[in-house]
Amino acid sequence: MSVIGIDLGDESCYVAVAKAGGIETIANDYSLRATPSCIAFSEKNRILGVAAKNQQVTNMKNTVYGLKRLIGRKYRDPHVQRELKILPFNVVEVAQGNIGIKVNYLNEEHIFSPEQCLAMLLTKLKDISSTALQTPINDCVISVPSYFTNNERKALLDSAAIAGLNVLRLFNETTATALSYGIYKQDLPGPEDKPRNVLFVDCGHSSLQVFVCAFNKDKLRMIATASDPNLGGRDVNFILAEHFCKEFQSKYKIDARSNPRAFLRLLAEVEKVKKQMSANSTSLPLNIECFMNDKDVHADIKRSDMEQLCSHLFQRVEGTLKQCLDQSGLTVDEIHSVEIVGGSSRIPAIKALIEKIFKKVPSTTLNQDEAVSRGCALQCAMLSPAVRVREFSVKDVQNYAVSVSWDASSDGEASGEIEAFPVNHVVPYSKMLTFYRQEPFSIRALYTGNIPYPDKHIGMWIVKDIRPNSEGKPQKVKVKVRINLHGIMTVSSASLFEAKESCEAENGEENQQQQQQQNNTQQQQNQNPTEQQNDVDATMADGVNNAAPEVGSSTSWTKKISAWFSGDGDKEKKKKQVMKSIELPIESLTAGFSQVEINQYTEQEFKMIAADRQEKERADARNALEEYVYELRGKLSSEDELSQFILDNDRSILSVQLDDMENWLYEEGEECNRQVYQDKLAELKSKGEPIQTRKVEFELRPIVIEDFAKSL
Ligand code: ATP
Ligand code: MG
Repeated sequence: MSVIGIDLGDESCYVAVAKAGGIETIANDYSLRATPSCIAFSEKNRILGVAAKNQQVTNMKNTVYGLKRLIGRKYRDPHVQRELKILPFNVVEVAQGNIGIKVNYLNEEHIFSPEQCLAMLLTKLKDISSTALQTPINDCVISVPSYFTNNERKALLDSAAIAGLNVLRLFNETTATALSYGIYKQDLPGPEDKPRNVLFVDCGHSSLQVFVCAFNKDKLRMIATASDPNLGGRDVNFILAEHFCKEFQSKYKIDARSNPRAFLRLLAEVEKVKKQMSANSTSLPLNIECFMNDKDVHADIKRSDMEQLCSHLFQRVEGTLKQCLDQSGLTVDEIHSVEIVGGSSRIPAIKALIEKIFKKVPSTTLNQDEAVSRGCALQCAMLSPAVRVREFSVKDVQNYAVSVSWDASSDGEASGEIEAFPVNHVVPYSKMLTFYRQEPFSIRALYTGNIPYPDKHIGMWIVKDIRPNSEGKPQKVKVKVRINLHGIMTVSSASLFEAKESCEAENGEENQQQQQQQNNTQQQQNQNPTEQQNDVDATMADGVNNAAPEVGSSTSWTKKISAWFSGDGDKEKKKKQVMKSIELPIESLTAGFSQVEINQYTEQEFKMIAADRQEKERADARNALEEYVYELRGKLSSEDELSQFILDNDRSILSVQLDDMENWLYEEGEECNRQVYQDKLAELKSKGEPIQTRKVEFELRPIVIEDFAKSL
């Protein structure tokens, strides 16, 4: 069983695997480590990854990308509307205001959700990994931007479920990068020493994340994160493309903005020049042949021109860098070093800004492209029993404050709200809330403060099956609210505590303890209904566990309250009250697919995988036949090959048959099923192979005689 880490980038994805010998990045079917985050549809099959990107210009309407920015969102979300302006494929509003991606697939119109499309990309990454590792893949850790909200995280989990991946953790890209750094650093301060604070800058294709992390030997703690989810390399591409559009308009009188296909080609060329500019400050050419109206275009650009055109973008980078430093509460001197990752951090202007603000030359200790995937693979190994890695404690934080509110009860318990998880609160984390209730009630969670999402509402959970006790009074209900390992807020359990009495003999000492417990319990009961017990996750290595009663999946009996003496002497008779905890059902009303929908989409995905496989086998069989036609024809006409082992007349007949077969392959034989090609290949081989055998026999003959002669 292999454990993999996936960096799901907006432009490209990387997959790393944790092995006994270390972490390796996996190459895809094109022997590349980067797989474009791109999928496409054709009349015959789906095309995923590199192949999809390669055919984008010729199949623009059916080539889908930018999914990371669409999942978990509604069609009318202003963020989605902004994205749609730059996406060349069809996106429509479907039921419940959801996003539908309309494509032509198998000669029919199909509408897929962004989550389904992302599942297709994950299917490809899964396939790349299992092919490279020669083993089935299930467990993985997938990266998410630290600024992703609940709905986006849940949507990604849904996509992974559709692709049949078991996500051990959605891991913030920030924390994944930090883990990649920390685990290999040999010279970190001791566990109790002053930590080393490292600032990281990850500027990718469409977003920027800046974060500060404190490192000690064997542990890291995220201190602060600042991001700009709408600032990355693609913005530079657009500005440059706009610039050239204007130039071409005046120079060649063509408007590339009016021609989406030409604009797409321009974007691709601009990206190449942009990358060259990072290493070269002289003037660089941009040439595109047959760009529009049969015209070739040419222009030049210098790095300084680009810097001027993009100066407002770089100001935003500066703002985000400063914001992160401010949030960290650290001075520039307290930052040990600045590490850069992500493709766009290679832009010299960004490096210069970093140097200006932090007075340090940015370091590139990490592999800029692979750090996130490698961090994810490390985390996956830590969470999975399959591979052993060095222990390293990772303390991640909550990016947005979450408040929790609840209904008033009919018997007077007031409604209320608390900030359950402040910004930068350690996650994963659970909190216990205690209520006294006699009927079902609901709890809501909400982001407070600014989030890059139009809806601050996280979800509502209804705690059910609550009844008054035998005396008609409210009962104690404990509710566990939690930000889980994926960074998703949930109400993970609710239990009702019912008091029962029983008789038992005990010694005096224990009775005293029980008396103490009773006092504690009464104190708790006197507190307001929001009594909190912080129940640090078992997954956190060094949290404080205030041990709220742990509720199992079945009913459990917990000795809890009190006793009083009856009788005398050594043996004292005790009347004891025990608490019975009963797990309560919770109905969650949160975004994301239902299990039924996930099952339905999973089945659909499996069918598409099977159809793709079938199409591949068909195409392979056709190629095999085509190749054999060419190979045999070549050999038949060559003196050195087969021409002397066949009679002239037979050769002419076979040559005609080969020509016919070739014509057939390009005409009515274009779209046959696999078996037809296999049968035709077998038929041709039955003619070609005897000739080949004659050649082999002929070549062996003198050797056999020679060997025989030698043996005499
Ligand atoms: P995101 O992190 O936003 O989801 P991603 O992880 O796919 O996206 P990266 O692979 O980190 O993004 O970076 C891709 C971006 O980096 C592209 O916009 C690409 O043009 C840009 N880039 C790559 N190399 C260079 C370079 N040498 N100079 C300038 N930009 C570069
Ligand atoms: Mg990235």
